[in-house]
Amino acid sequence: MDKLSGSEEIVLTGIKGSPGICIGQAYLVDKEGVDVVVKYDIGPQDVAREQARLKSAVKKTKDEITAIIRDLPAEYIQHISILESHKVLAGDKLLYGKALEIIDQDRINAEWALKRIASKVQAMFLDIPDPYLRSRSTDVAQVSERIMGNLTGAEKVNISKINKRVILVARDLSPADTSQIQLEKIMGFVTDKGGQASHTSIIARTLEIPSIQGLGNATQIIQNEDIIIVDGLEGLVIVHPTDETLLRYNDIQRDYELRKAIVTRESKSPATTTDGYTMTLMGNIELVEEVVSVLDHGGQGIGLFRTEFQYLNRASYPSEDELYEQYKDVVELIAPEPVTIRTLDINGDKALAYDSNNDESNPALGLRAIRFCLTRTDVFMTQLRAILRAAVYGNIRVMFPMISGLEEVLAAKRHLHEAVKALKKENIPHRSDIEVGIMIEIPSAAYMAEVLADEVSFFSIGTNDLTQYMLAIDRSNQKVAHLYKPLHPAVIRIINHVVNVAKSKGIKVFMCGEMASDPVNLPLLIGMGLDELSMAPQAIPDVKDRIRKLSREKTLSIVTDVLRQGSVEDIERLIRCEEQKLGL
Ligand code: PEP
Ligand code: MG
Repeated sequence: MDKLSGSEEIVLTGIKGSPGICIGQAYLVDKEGVDVVVKYDIGPQDVAREQARLKSAVKKTKDEITAIIRDLPAEYIQHISILESHKVLAGDKLLYGKALEIIDQDRINAEWALKRIASKVQAMFLDIPDPYLRSRSTDVAQVSERIMGNLTGAEKVNISKINKRVILVARDLSPADTSQIQLEKIMGFVTDKGGQASHTSIIARTLEIPSIQGLGNATQIIQNEDIIIVDGLEGLVIVHPTDETLLRYNDIQRDYELRKAIVTRESKSPATTTDGYTMTLMGNIELVEEVVSVLDHGGQGIGLFRTEFQYLNRASYPSEDELYEQYKDVVELIAPEPVTIRTLDINGDKALAYDSNNDESNPALGLRAIRFCLTRTDVFMTQLRAILRAAVYGNIRVMFPMISGLEEVLAAKRHLHEAVKALKKENIPHRSDIEVGIMIEIPSAAYMAEVLADEVSFFSIGTNDLTQYMLAIDRSNQKVAHLYKPLHPAVIRIINHVVNVAKSKGIKVFMCGEMASDPVNLPLLIGMGLDELSMAPQAIPDVKDRIRKLSREKTLSIVTDVLRQGSVEDIERLIRCEEQKLGL
């Protein structure tokens, strides 16, 4: 669906990011400029409307430039002539006049007309040998971008400053943007880009707000202040819902909240199967405040504390004391249950504004996580010291991310020992006996599990990255989201291998990737014998509820059957069939 049709109801389909339903006003956020514009054809009756939209966007652009000139500080006065020329260009026949013309001639929407003409005029300037005239192509780009912004109603905004209750609509939101969301203001969000395992979706699930990713062109279709419904259960966004749809969704929302309340009521009881096997369920957190949510949802500790969020949205690295205070808060809140602190998993899609290496062409394969820490040992040591100091107040386990082989485990452990030695020498209270584990999320580590098991007390399987690297599918790219399959036989086999190795070596094995939170996967995970599952806190009640309906003995035979299958389809069919047998 890519046609704007007055205020008719439009249904957009995307990728389920976070469950739940919200209904409210759209608020467009444009973080990336307006370089991707959707083309659609219009009928003769729409020409006047599209021309009027363009006219009003150009007028707004000129008014904005006038205001900028008026408010220009004295030291920038020499730039007035550039701004004046931008104002003239905005209303120039070459750009604006031509765009108006082709809306009518070619019967296309205003955005597309503007984009086409702007590219043409830019190319024309770039062809001129004279350097001054050639450089005017930049002016054309800047002016048309400003007009486009006004045309689409998109704004560059600071998410934390939004002060009305709205649903965000964005091309994309980075994990850093998402972590700025104020829950009392933002009801949910939808994005054109992104997939289910992206960190942005993960944060949405932790925040317990509905979200849909990978919509493709929602920002082109939805206008500011449009009423929209976000159906995170089905992955739908309904724009301009009819009264009938609104009524239906009010019912769906009520039923969903009711079921959630019932399941949550039972969430403090253990997750014991019908034949008496009990599974430990932990929460994943990004921020200190989320600890309360883990406890409220019946979590028995923190299985993954993604510490990188203390490093985002700020101007410089946090100090040891700052980190120590935060870790201490988490540890004290959850004690005597454990907190698994994962050391900095920075870069990839979580680059630091103040120390970014965005010149990497493949950031997911770049200087991420432990690789970064082993090159910036100052940053690493600061974090390790803070962890060891906070451990005095409860039960901390430290976990190293993105381990690819033995050398990295040994190097990371060496730094941990050095941190212990330094704290001892400085007479600073700390603990030196904390459990050390690694994430298994790179295929090479999974294959080396036998060797790595000798060095650590636990493995935690990170299925988000493990699936990404096993299948060579970018976890954040909506174009390949349909191929992102944690139930791929290769992924299942490698997980089973890691669990078996851990068992035979006598170390514990956990799972903290998103795979653990999908109830459909539970027969498999329980049957394989994982010791703990960790997930977004709000997923815990549902997972516990499902475990209580399973028999451990039956799950053992499901694993055997699944491991015999050669395709994702066969595995999914088998699991669906088992669910039906269980009446789920
Ligand atoms: C994972 O990769 O499965 C994981 C838990 O870590 P993250 O999602 O933070 O990369
Ligand atoms: Mg990971």
